[in-house]
Amino acid sequence: MPDEINIRNISIKCGNCNTYQTLTAFSRRDEWNIYTYECENDTCDPSVTRTLVEVPREMDSFARRDPEWRGGGKHGEIGDGTLEE
Ligand SMILES: [Zn+2]
Repeated sequence: MPDEINIRNISIKCGNCNTYQTLTAFSRRDEWNIYTYECENDTCDPSVTRTLVEVPREMDSFARRDPEWRGGGKHGEIGDGTLEE
């Protein structure tokens, strides 16, 4: 059984403002799923502190379980719908 990664089990914390970043976008590039996290406060400029987490698609149990997921929004809010095929 291959190892799996569920992005929901991973916390992304900003080293600049020391708060957790919010998942704001999801995209795909080749065999990778790319999750974008940003700070949501007045301390950081998201364009500077944005984090991209790349997960091999075959290991990504989160995207596989939610194929219709379109990314973004914390606490179940609707995101900006960013999805690149
Ligand atoms: Zn920050």
